[in-house]
Amino acid sequence: MITIKTPREIELMKVAGEIVGDTHHYLEPYIKPGITTKELNDLAEEYILSRGATPSFKGLYGFPGSICISLNEEVVHGIPGDRVLEEGDIVTLDIGACYKGYHGDSAWTYAVGKISKEKEMLMKHTEESLFAGLSVIKEGARIGDIGYAVSECAKKYNLGVVKELVGHGVGTSVHEDPDVPNYGSKNTGPVLKEGMVIAVEPMLNLGTADVYMLEDDWTIITGDLKPSAHFEHTVVVEKNGYTILTKR
Ligand code: MG
Ligand code: MG
Repeated sequence: MITIKTPREIELMKVAGEIVGDTHHYLEPYIKPGITTKELNDLAEEYILSRGATPSFKGLYGFPGSICISLNEEVVHGIPGDRVLEEGDIVTLDIGACYKGYHGDSAWTYAVGKISKEKEMLMKHTEESLFAGLSVIKEGARIGDIGYAVSECAKKYNLGVVKELVGHGVGTSVHEDPDVPNYGSKNTGPVLKEGMVIAVEPMLNLGTADVYMLEDDWTIITGDLKPSAHFEHTVVVEKNGYTILTKR
């Protein structure tokens, strides 16, 4: 069921989203060679708690971390641990926070020190595809319009669109209806209505679109081990457009 949020609910979701955006901002200076993913995870949790919220992904479906941290060929759901960031890596932090029962969700890929031109290109155009997807959002547009815009952008740069993982509605659960795929046809799928809150989150690969799961049953990696990037915002649908709730 797709829910329409009341103005009061949207106010709470703005706070949740702001905490998520601020957590990204807080962590950014720590994203340097030498830090472990567990250290980043713990900094994130501490910060989210200090803002009166809780990390949405901690224990979600049994996830062992507080945020998801995915490096290079890891697409999503990387488990924080002893892995040390190295110069030239790209790292995605997928952060969710729950404030007074409402969630915000935003992923962002960061460069660790100096990265290759290929990785730079991948990051730049994955971010671009997020904003291409967002640009079509307004009351009356359809979910398929978003996926179409994302995948057309990816196609321009010959990037692989991950199809197994999709964006989603956000509210009192971090994952609600509807699914928001990163592919689709114009004028198909559920119609967007004012007050719907959705997370748009393209995951684009430098090589093949194929992905598979590691034996930890969490981490999703690319089929050819080439890097993947992931950019996500939670937004509220409005009459003539949208507002990003997870601004950084
Ligand atoms: Mg996310
Ligand atoms: Mg999400």
